[in-house]
Amino acid sequence: MRHFNIPLFIPEKACPFQCIFCDQRKITGVEDSLQIKEFETQIINYLSTIPTENSSVLLAFFGGTFTGISLKEQEEYLQMAKPFIDSGQIAGIRISTRPDYINQENLDLLKRYHVSNIELGAQSLNNEVLRQSYRGHTYQQVAEASKLILNNGFELGLQMMLGLPGDTKKTALQTAEHIIALGATETRIYPTMVIRGTALEQLWRKGKYNPISTEKAIEQSVELFQLFEENKVRVLRMGLYPSEDFLNNEVVAGPEIHHFKEKVMSRIWGQKFMPLIQKASIDSSIIIYVSPLQLNFAIGYKASNKLMLNSYYKKVKIKSDTKLQNYNYRVDYY
Ligand code: SF4
Repeated sequence: MRHFNIPLFIPEKACPFQCIFCDQRKITGVEDSLQIKEFETQIINYLSTIPTENSSVLLAFFGGTFTGISLKEQEEYLQMAKPFIDSGQIAGIRISTRPDYINQENLDLLKRYHVSNIELGAQSLNNEVLRQSYRGHTYQQVAEASKLILNNGFELGLQMMLGLPGDTKKTALQTAEHIIALGATETRIYPTMVIRGTALEQLWRKGKYNPISTEKAIEQSVELFQLFEENKVRVLRMGLYPSEDFLNNEVVAGPEIHHFKEKVMSRIWGQKFMPLIQKASIDSSIIIYVSPLQLNFAIGYKASNKLMLNSYYKKVKIKSDTKLQNYNYRVDYY
């Protein structure tokens, strides 16, 4: 079964918070987002590109704090999606919101309209990091909201950020452990970037904040990704995919975010191939077979894993084999 999300971006309406890493003016800049009618057209267009067999499609309301808008407006968006759910073309709805915007009345509305997945921007589950990041909520609020979401039968996602003020490798790991313990089945890992116009930019300019380095962001993500996978938490995304324009004009400091997921996955495969180095002989050649879904990651970002193995073997080929899954691989020596 293949999973698809149809993303719909709803406007962020006057968020009352001032998270240190966020410039609301840029977020509220999406105020011209699509209207209900245009959303319908967008859904129809998306559906026409998705294979009807063996597919599970979710509608995903991104870009805003969904439960932060009025119940009436939420219902208008959900009502628009209803015919697609009733016809079976869409299996459920995914929304993202803040932990302190979860209450029973709102969950009842979401349930009525077949919302299946709720993602909370937790960002960190360390109270000191949350305080220094001016998130405006605590770990306890995330825990309470998570419990309420799960008790109401929704699937829970908890997103986290790396390198917020006060965050360390240890607090990031604790955040991941809390995410698992709170019952999330989905997460996203975002390294913090310094965006122009934010309070974080001021801190950085005064020398009071050092962004996480690219290397540390990759190292931590490698560890966290594997921890999440072992605990059956799906990592939906690693790193933002901002446009070239945004990266060039709005990001003033932070880790190199280009191809971030590829770099993390490539590092994980590099570790998996370590036993092949111990057995290596420059007189032999190898063909490594991996699952088709993992082929590019196994070869590595800019072929890094293949090049690394090439220095230990006469010849190295990495190919796909549909019988293999996940991180299993087979090696033929010749
Ligand atoms: S990141 Fe913080 S400030 Fe920005 S829109 Fe979300 S809650 Fe509001």
